[in-house]
Amino acid sequence: MSNNIRVRFAPSPTGPLHIGGVRTALYNYLFAKKHGGTFILRIEDTDQKRYVTNAEKYIIEALNWSGIPFDEGVGKEGKFAPYRQSERKDIYKKHIQTLIDKDWAYYAFDTPEELATQRKQHEAAGKTFSYNQVLRKTLNNSISLSKDEVSKRLDKGDSYVIRFKTPQDETVYLTDIIRGDMKIDTNTLDDKVLFKSDGIPTYHFANIVDDHEMEISHVIRGEEWLPSLALHVMLYKAFEWKAPEFAHLPLLLKPVGKGKLSKRDGDKLGFPVFPLEYTNEKTNEVSRGYREDGYFPEAFINMLAFLGWNPGTEQELFSLEELVAAFSLERVSKSGAKFDLDKTKWFQQQYMKTKSDAELVELFNPYLEPHLGGFMFTDFNTEYRTKVVSLIKERATFVSDLWDLASFFFLPPFEYDPKATKKAWKEDTAEIMQNLKEVVENTHSFTSDSIENNVKEWIKESELGFGKVLMPFRLSLVGSMQGPHVFDIAALIGKEETLSRMNRIIKELD
Ligand code: GLU
Repeated sequence: MSNNIRVRFAPSPTGPLHIGGVRTALYNYLFAKKHGGTFILRIEDTDQKRYVTNAEKYIIEALNWSGIPFDEGVGKEGKFAPYRQSERKDIYKKHIQTLIDKDWAYYAFDTPEELATQRKQHEAAGKTFSYNQVLRKTLNNSISLSKDEVSKRLDKGDSYVIRFKTPQDETVYLTDIIRGDMKIDTNTLDDKVLFKSDGIPTYHFANIVDDHEMEISHVIRGEEWLPSLALHVMLYKAFEWKAPEFAHLPLLLKPVGKGKLSKRDGDKLGFPVFPLEYTNEKTNEVSRGYREDGYFPEAFINMLAFLGWNPGTEQELFSLEELVAAFSLERVSKSGAKFDLDKTKWFQQQYMKTKSDAELVELFNPYLEPHLGGFMFTDFNTEYRTKVVSLIKERATFVSDLWDLASFFFLPPFEYDPKATKKAWKEDTAEIMQNLKEVVENTHSFTSDSIENNVKEWIKESELGFGKVLMPFRLSLVGSMQGPHVFDIAALIGKEETLSRMNRIIKELD
């Protein structure tokens, strides 16, 4: 592949970026990096009606958080600036003139009312109205009207749009890296508007002009743009420009059954569909984000990479560098990719496991600090916190789970789980605990192993049975039947605190 690989992610700032958009950005990024190319962010903000002011900032923040920054684009210097379409109007004006001069585009003066009437009349006759090769001859445009009439109307300042003059009786051949070859009969297409009456280009026109101007080599985008491909390819032909290669990515589907995963689904189905939390400017409605839900960006990206692509091996955990090395468009599937919440959590768990204890302590601290103001039995230095984290991290999916899993390392239980109590605390338990206290008291080197040895030996000698002793012992230290190895807990909180908790449970439950 040539070394001039240039790809772009070209979102419209109409709201927060859906995770499908992040996946499109990711595949563009991976493809660019794999081939030593350039990843560009272009903001396609020609649709003024749907423009949302904080969307652009959101998009950039989302890409940065995901760890897939762009090389060229809005806010960065670049040879092809500006990268916001609203700042490129002169470029589009120049190019649309070329198409008109080449007779590939024409002025259409039909008013919205006239078009509505046409539509109605067609409907009444059981037909659908299409502004196409046949009907254009009967409508108000620079093909049907005389040259003089057209000049007059333009001079007068009559309102017009500019339409593409779709060729008749031709076949457009399309090639897509993911979908293979397709062909379209031009007679099934209508004359799409390229320039609106407000002098602003439509998506199609601005998009292909920019892809050409910015020397884009590969267009990698969502499947919803596949129906536009024929028009885009015809536009390149009309300009006599070399078209980029195209790859249309499969849709992201809802977890159950069919149907596109929509922006609304997140709140309905109970998982985020946005990378970052988003507050709607108008309604103040807040939508969840992966970042705020506690996902690591590495886990989020790894999960997204697998929604529509697979490496062809058993390996599932990929760092970004590994994804770059393994990625290819040929391994992107044609069929829709089902979102899977369990799998998403699984990825997060795997990345949780890869964090070192020191990293986890850093991440845990902000969650821990608010609790450390209350009653404490010792000073919890970093060494202590590190040991705690090493004992519980296996059970955590998110950093925010750590406090619930670890609270008893910092505070004595303030209540005893009723179900566990019923199971663990019998009539003779208080007496057993009194005796166990002695064993604990007499364990001088207070390590997990020596406590375990002494306690187990005593259990055997006194023929008590492990459950009878170890269940209330755990209940006294933890307040429930949860937590790591009970002797690890005792060793870490120390002899004094262990005995104090045992005294307390005897007092409360006897
Ligand atoms: N602005 C389009 C979008 O919002 C870009 C489509 C394309 O990549 O060509 O998805």
